[in-house]
Amino acid sequence: MEEKFDAIIVGAGAAGLGAAYRLAKYGLNVVVLERGQRIGAKNVYGGRIYTHVFEKEIPEFRKEAPVERWVKKERLTLMNSDDAVTLELFSDFSANDSFIAILSKFNEWLGKKVEDAGGLVIPGIKVDDLIAENGTIKGITAGDEKLYADVVIDAEGINPIIAKKAGLRDDWKPNQVAVGVKEVIKISENTVNDIFQLNEGEGVANLFLGYPTNYALGGGFLYTNKDTISLGVVIRIDSAIAKRIQVYDIIEDFRNHPFIHRILKEGSPIEYSAHLVPEEGLDGIPRNLVGDGILLAGDVAGFVLNRGLTIRGVDLAFLSGLLAAETVKEAHEAGDFSRASLSSYEEKLKNSIVFSELEAFKRASGLLGNLRFYETYPQILCEVLKDAYTVGENSRKIYPILREKMKGRLSLFTMIRDVISAVRNL
Ligand SMILES: Cc1cc2nc3c(=O)[nH]c(=O)nc-3n(C[C@H](O)[C@H](O)[C@H](O)COP(=O)(O)OP(=O)(O)OC[C@H]3O[C@@H](n4cnc5c(N)ncnc54)[C@H](O)[C@@H]3O)c2cc1C
Repeated sequence: MEEKFDAIIVGAGAAGLGAAYRLAKYGLNVVVLERGQRIGAKNVYGGRIYTHVFEKEIPEFRKEAPVERWVKKERLTLMNSDDAVTLELFSDFSANDSFIAILSKFNEWLGKKVEDAGGLVIPGIKVDDLIAENGTIKGITAGDEKLYADVVIDAEGINPIIAKKAGLRDDWKPNQVAVGVKEVIKISENTVNDIFQLNEGEGVANLFLGYPTNYALGGGFLYTNKDTISLGVVIRIDSAIAKRIQVYDIIEDFRNHPFIHRILKEGSPIEYSAHLVPEEGLDGIPRNLVGDGILLAGDVAGFVLNRGLTIRGVDLAFLSGLLAAETVKEAHEAGDFSRASLSSYEEKLKNSIVFSELEAFKRASGLLGNLRFYETYPQILCEVLKDAYTVGENSRKIYPILREKMKGRLSLFTMIRDVISAVRNL
C-alpha cells in the first residue's frame, strides 16, 4: 500500500463517494477506504433522497439510480397510544422531486459511478490514524499499512474518530445527536400499492410525532420501498436519557400501534439497524472544516438539516463532497495543500445550499427541542378530534372539548406562541 495518491478519502458514504466521483472525473488519482466489508454495508438512514444535487452532477442519474419509488404522498401523523391523526399531501411534486431508496444500494451504485470514472474504492479497510509531518497531514495508517497522499478528505460519518485526531472536531454532546433504529419489513409490492393507494413506482413518506418516541424529542418514520417498508424511530439522546427510554425496545411498541399494525400485519421484518444522526444544524458545525492537508465532508461536519417536516442529509453530504473535490483540484493546480489554500472550501460551502439551507432553518433545531410538539399537541389533537367525531345522544362542539383537554396542560397563549413560532421557523 505504500503508493502515493492525489487524495485519500475516508469513508464510502454519500460524502466520500461524491468527493471521489468529482476527483476521478478531474483525472486525479483518488482512493476511497471504507471499513465496511462492502460499499453500503455500514450506511443507515430513514428512506428518502432529494434529487437536485444528484441530477446536476450525474446526467444519467434518472435512468440509472436504484430508485425504489418516487414520493407522491407526504404524510404527517400525530399519535397517542390508541389513535392517530394524519395530514396528507398528494401531489406530483414535479418541481420538487424526491425518491425513496435503500441507502446501501444507492451508495453501492454511487461507488460504481466512482469506479467507472476511474476512482478506486476499497472496502474492508478501517483507517486508524493520520500520518502528519510538521503538522501537515500526509496520509493515513490502516493496521500496519501506510498510505500517502497530498490531501485526506475525511468523510467518516457521525463518529469523528479521524476528525478528532486532526483536531478539527470534538465528540458530539447528547443534545446534538439523535439515535435512529429502523426495521425493513417485507411485504408484497401489490400490498404496498393497495394499502397506500399508489400506482406503480409511486411512494409515501410518512413522519410521525408523539407515541412512536414515547413522547420524547424525535419522531417516527415510514417509507414505502418497492416491496418492503422502512419503519423507524429517531430520538434525541438527551431526551432518551431524561425519559429513560430504551430506544431499541421502542420500535416494537410503534410497530404494534393499531395504525401501524393494520399496515404491517402481513409483513415480516428482514433487517434491523441503528445509527446516529446530527441534529443541531448550523450550531453543530465545527469552527474549522479544514486543516493542513485535510478537509471534512458530510455528517462528520454536521451537514444535516432536520426541519421537522423534512430531513436532508444524503444530498448535502454528496454536495459537500463535490465542493471538497473542487477545492482539492484547485490546491492540486496551485501545489499548495495548506490550511490557507484549502480554506476556500469553507467559502464554497457558505455560497452553496449546504449553508444557505442550514442558515435559513437555523432556529428549527431550537424549536424542535420544544417537548410540547411531541407530548402535548399529539395527545390533545387526537383526544379532541376523537371526542368531536364521537356522536352519542348529544354531540359536542369543538371549543368546549378543546378547553377541557387543555385544562392544566396547555394555555391558549402558549399554544398561539408555539404555532406562530412553528410557522415562522420551520
Ligand atoms: C435514522 C436516520 C434517518 C435518516 N433519514 C434521512 C433521510 O430520510 N434522508 C436524508 O437525506 N438523510 C437522512 N439521514 C441522514 C443521512 O443518512 C446522512 O446525513 C448521510 O448518509 C451522511 O453521509 P456521510 O457520507 O457523511 O456518512 P455515512 O453515510 O455515515 O458514511 C460514512 C462512511 O465512513 C465509513 N467509515 C467511518 N469510519 C471509517 C474509518 N475509520 N475507516 C474507513 N471507513 C470509515 C463508514 O463505514 C461509512 O460507510 C438519516 C440518518 C439517520 C441515522
